[in-house]
Amino acid sequence: MTDLQAIVDEIHGKLQSRLGEGKVADYIPQLAHVDPKRFGMAVVTVDGQVHKAGDCDEPFSIQSISKVFTLTLALGKHGETTWNRVGKEPSGSAFNSIVQLEHEEGKPRNPFINAGAIAVSDLVLAGHTPAEAIGEIVRFVRYLAEDETIAIDPAVAKSEEATGYRNFALANFMRSFGKLSHPVEHVLGVYFHHCAIAMTCSQLARSGLFLAANGRNPMTGHTVVSSQRARRINALMLTCGHYDGSGDFAYRVGLPGKSGVGGGILAVAPGKASIAVWSPGLNHNGNSLIGSLALEMFADMTGWSVFGH
Ligand code: GLU
Repeated sequence: MTDLQAIVDEIHGKLQSRLGEGKVADYIPQLAHVDPKRFGMAVVTVDGQVHKAGDCDEPFSIQSISKVFTLTLALGKHGETTWNRVGKEPSGSAFNSIVQLEHEEGKPRNPFINAGAIAVSDLVLAGHTPAEAIGEIVRFVRYLAEDETIAIDPAVAKSEEATGYRNFALANFMRSFGKLSHPVEHVLGVYFHHCAIAMTCSQLARSGLFLAANGRNPMTGHTVVSSQRARRINALMLTCGHYDGSGDFAYRVGLPGKSGVGGGILAVAPGKASIAVWSPGLNHNGNSLIGSLALEMFADMTGWSVFGH
C-alpha cells in the first residue's frame, strides 16, 4: 500500500529550499502581506485517512477555488440549464480577460474564469437577496467540510470590492448583453464574498472529498451530487481549473484541480483522495508555483494521474 504520509512528508521536505519562489498576488493588501514561504498540504482519502504537512491548518483566502462550490450549487438549483449561461470550454486566456467575452456576446467560456463565475453567482442569487445567497454558499462549504468555523474574511471581501474594476467591467459587459438577471452590484457582492472565504488545507481537502467519491461525502455518508455530476465537475476542473495554465497543469499533474490567487489548489484523484495545497507565490498564469510542483510530485509518487502511471 502507498504510504501517503511518507509521500506528503517527502514533498514537504524536498520543497523547503524552494519556498518563497513565485510572486504573491498584490492587488489587495490582505493577499500582498501573506508570507511567501508558507506551505501546507492535506490529503484526505475516500476511506477517511488524513495526511498533512506544513501550514495545513492555517486559514488562507481560497479565492477562485470557491468557484467549484458555487458551480456545484448553481447546478443543484438550475441543472443543465446552467449551461445556457456559461460554456464548458477552456478559455486559453487570462482569468480576467474581457476580449473573449465581447466576441462571444456575453456568454463566458467556462464557470472558472472570472466572467463565468460571475454568471454562476447570478444563478446562485436566483430567488435570494445577496446576503441569503452568500449565507447559502458559506453553509454549503461548512456542510461539505463538516466544520462550522469556516467563514468569510470581511476585510478581503471589502478590498475585492474596492479594487474590482475589472470584475465590474466584466459584469457590466454581461449585463449589457442581457446575460445577468440581477443588478451588477448584487451579483458582484456574492462573487466578492465567496472569493473571500478563508479555509485551511485540511478543511479544503475535506470539502472536495465528494468529488473524489462519486458525489458522496464518505465521511458523513451524505450524497452531495450524483456520480454523473461529480464526474462532470471533475472534467471541468481538469480542462478549465487553472485558467490559461490548465493544459500545463494537466500535462504535469494529470488531476482535476482548481487554483486560486491566494495560492491554494484543490485537486481531486477520483476514487482515491482529495488533496489541498497552499503556497502563496504564483507562476505567470496566476497559479501557485510551489503548490503545482507539490501536486506534480504527488501525482508522480502515487501514480494517481488520471492519464495513467
Ligand atoms: N477574487 C479574484 C478576482 O476576481 C479571484 C481570482 C483568482 O482567484 O484567480 O480577481
